[in-house]
Amino acid sequence: MAVFDTVFHADLPDYAYTYGLPYELYKKYHIRRYGFHGTSHQYVTRQAAEFLDNTYGIKNTRLISLHLGNGASAAAVLNGQSIDTSMGMTPLEVLLMGSRSGDIDPAILFYLARETGADIDTLDALLNKQSGLKGLCGQNDMRTIIEQIDQGDELSTLAIHIFCYRIKKYIGAYAAALNGIDGLIFTGGIGENSSFIRKQVCTNMDELGIIMDSNKNQVANDALSELHNLHSKVKILAVKTNEELEIALQTQQLLGRDGSRLPCTEN
Ligand code: AMP
Repeated sequence: MAVFDTVFHADLPDYAYTYGLPYELYKKYHIRRYGFHGTSHQYVTRQAAEFLDNTYGIKNTRLISLHLGNGASAAAVLNGQSIDTSMGMTPLEVLLMGSRSGDIDPAILFYLARETGADIDTLDALLNKQSGLKGLCGQNDMRTIIEQIDQGDELSTLAIHIFCYRIKKYIGAYAAALNGIDGLIFTGGIGENSSFIRKQVCTNMDELGIIMDSNKNQVANDALSELHNLHSKVKILAVKTNEELEIALQTQQLLGRDGSRLPCTEN
């Protein structure tokens, strides 16, 4: 049994997954947005949707899932269906990550190639392995970066501002795509554990209906923790992801409860 990390995003609408490139490149080379972290986004959004239904009677959920770890991605999930996600054909796109740049103007690559003579492999390594938090402040471990901020390191402060600002922008983008937000979910090593980053992301978001409770944010440590205050229209949740369990659940679903039903090849 193999569960592809892209499968949760397999039914994105064509206008969300198609790049503005000649259409024949999509036809010939299958160049499109695929998205990643699907197993995690699927698990946490299902947990959140069940919780919001049971606790608040919210049924048709508009969720934004933020998987923030060494790799970072956002997904817009409507009624359990991923309708947009930030990673693209590869995991390099959009958010700033541990050592990946996320979005840059693609023309920077042409400029660098012309100016420095850098070849494809060099540019690939630059964007995937030497950029992001590491490229900006020398560290990709969020705990170390937060320590460096406490010691007054300016580049660490800048790196975190960029990291959080880009997440904020995508919350805004996906709020528009979903026509509102019922739940905002933090997951992944940073999303689950860093009250500091969660707070930075949710600061000055009250006009979007996002108001965090600082005390709840500080102590959150359950499988699913609520982080919003009473006046927040959006429910803010930290949900511990469990990709292994999600794979097991999907395997069980495919094989039948007792594991006796082999999948039909036509399906
Ligand atoms: P992941 O790729 O999901 O395992 O997440 C790894 C990232 O989570 C690293 O940047 C860690 O520094 C970060 N992380 C783990 N625990 C904490 C924590 N308590 N505070 C801040 N960042 C954390």
